[in-house]
Order: sequence, then C-alpha cells, then structure tokens
Amino acid sequence: MDTIIRNARVRGQDGPVDIAISKDRIEAVQPKIAGKGGQEIDAGGSLVLPGLFNLHLHSDKSLLGEVMRPNVSGTLPEAIEITNEFKRNYDPKEVAERTMRVLEAGVKNGTTFFRLFSDVGTIGGLRAARGLLLAREKFSAYCDIQVVAFPQEGIVRDPGAAELLDEAMKEGCDIVGGLPWYEYTDADAREHIDICFGIAKRYDKDIHMLVDDTDDANSRSLEYLALKTMRENFQGRVAASHCGAMAGYNDVYAAKIVDMVGTAGITISCNAHINLVCSARLDREPRRRGIARVKELLARGVNVVTSQDDVNDPYYPFGKPDPLECVSMIAHVAQLTLPHELEQAMNMVTENAAKAARVDDYGIAAGKRADLVVVGAPSVHEAIRLQPLRRHVFKRGREVARSVVSQELMRN
Ligand SMILES: [Zn+2]
Repeated sequence: MDTIIRNARVRGQDGPVDIAISKDRIEAVQPKIAGKGGQEIDAGGSLVLPGLFNLHLHSDKSLLGEVMRPNVSGTLPEAIEITNEFKRNYDPKEVAERTMRVLEAGVKNGTTFFRLFSDVGTIGGLRAARGLLLAREKFSAYCDIQVVAFPQEGIVRDPGAAELLDEAMKEGCDIVGGLPWYEYTDADAREHIDICFGIAKRYDKDIHMLVDDTDDANSRSLEYLALKTMRENFQGRVAASHCGAMAGYNDVYAAKIVDMVGTAGITISCNAHINLVCSARLDREPRRRGIARVKELLARGVNVVTSQDDVNDPYYPFGKPDPLECVSMIAHVAQLTLPHELEQAMNMVTENAAKAARVDDYGIAAGKRADLVVVGAPSVHEAIRLQPLRRHVFKRGREVARSVVSQELMRN
C-alpha cells in the first residue's frame, strides 16, 4: 500500500474508516486496515470525498479582470463586448498561463476534474482553444481536463465559426460547445443546435451547451435541444448550462420542459454565481434569480450539477474557484437546506458531475480511481457551512496539494 488515509468519514458509512491506496487506485476501504502505508495520513475524523468537479469554467477569460475595464451595466452583452476587444490578440501561451493559475487554485480546493470552455469564433480564431489544449498538457499530472470548443459569438451569426469548431475538434478538443440562444432567431438557434450535433457525431464527442442564459422566458433553445437529443439518441451525452429562462417560464411550460429534459437524459449545469450577478439586471423588484428550476429538476430525476463559470473576468469579478463554494451557493439559491437536500447539493460537484462526464470508476470504494479530498470538516453539512481549506488532495493516488491550517483564538 502506497498510502493509507486513517480515521476518515466517508458518505454512506456509519463509522470512521481507513482508505488504502495502491498506485492510482483505491485498494480497500474498511474500519481498520492493518500494516503500514508508505505514506500515512491522519484524516482526524474529517470527511473524505472523491475528487471534486468543475464542469464549466471559461479559463481563457479567467483573471482578465486584472487587466480589463469593469462591466458598467453588469450584463452579459457588455461582458461579451469588453472581452472581444482583448480576444483579437490572444496569445495561446498567455492564455495557458492564466488558465494554469486558475487550475492551481482549483486543485488546491480539491478539484481533480475540469471542463474548460475555450472561445472559438472569427474574432479569436483557435487561439483560446490552443491555449487551453496547452494547459491541458502541462497540467495533466494534477487533474483531468476536457476542453470544450465553444462558439461564444454564435454560429449562424458568426459565419466561419462552424468551420473553426470543426478545426478545433480536429486539433484535440474533447467536447462540442454551443450557444444557441444567442442567435438572432429561433430558427437560427435550431440550426445552431443541428450544426453542433453534426460536429459531435462526426467526431463521436459529447455536447455541452450554454442554453437560454437569458431573462427572456420565451427563449426556446432548451426545448429543441431536448428534442434533438432524443431524436439523435444522445441521451446521457448532452449537458446544458444556465437555462435561466426557466426562472421566467409559466408553470405549465416549465413542467413540460423539465419532463423533456429528464427523458432526454440531459445534465443541467447551474452556475449560480454568475447568474446572481448578471441576470435580471433589467428587473425592478421582485428580482428573479436567473437560475434553472433545481428542485423541480431533481424531483424529475434530472442529473443536476453546479460549477464555477467565471473567475475574475468581465462577466463576474469574484471566484476562488472552489466547488464547495458552488455547492454552498446553489444550496442558498435553490433553497436546499434539509439534510437530504444538502446531500443532493454535494452530489452536484461529485457523483452527478462524474455521471455527466461519463467517468465510471469514480467514488470511494475498492477498485475506484484514487482521486480523493480530505475536506477538513466532519460531515457534508459542516463542509458546506464552513468550506474549510482542503487538508490533502490526491490525483491518481499521488498527493497533489495540501493545506496546513493553524487558527486560534488568543485568550486573555
Ligand atoms: Zn459560461
């Protein structure tokens, strides 16, 4: 045994357990493991989770807040406009360096799997994608990375984007992105979705689109995406981020769409941070939250994940990035406060995300991949409440990050 993590709390187990790791796999999980590991770690009764996921991060734009003017209106269109000024001159190496700064912060917070979105379109060409592919290669010892080819300026309204998306897949991107609601008309949005499916089928890749990220309750691209997913037999291979229009649907239409999404096996990714900041800017009061109908989706059995979309960029000026902060945020926004709801919220950065990314050797059990996080709090509830520094992070059996915490009250 290369490593033994002692005195760990694991979800679904009553008492504390030891976790033995050999090479890149978990060898055993049981109350007391005899013998000695090459490395011995005392979890001290802390919760140990399998590696955390961030399935939606625009790392090509991350940290641009350091060099760009602020977003005065706070809206998405202004964020897009500000970023475009900079994007024309992207240098893949510079994009990779910013990406790796954010990846490093994420890994220290226990993230062992990232899905990175790279803008692909006629403004920046393939420069962002090449930057993220470079970061994927350079950072592969610390985490798994998928790169999404994402048409940030649309496809139909950005002639040339479809060819660039195809080229990005050829150069090694893992996932076909999409932004159908951003097209000028519903017909164009449907064509956009059709083009994305064409590319995904050509390269046999999964799809992750940003869908109906608008306060317009009449935005209809989730409906067509669900239909198309069923017709193309892509169940389990499509994720839709944001879907904030759902917040404004009438309840009858919402029930239809939630059911279609369930039947289509689409994963819904919430990005509560950014939508709380960017959505409903034109609302007076009461102000919508711009978040998909999480509780209704969960009740229908839809796979819901939550992720950190932006880190200090024109869209969103904050972001640590930390999956536990995402869990806390979605628990607030979707009002997930009961014990079983906290478990559901935690699933959104663990097993639901693993399912969306089709990672099948995930979890804490013998034979599973040794991606582990010693959280630094004893339970899911306390982990969400306190979001403590992660004590140890393991990727494929190797410790890739640790935090040493010392905090005390100076008594008189
Ligand atoms: Zn996004």
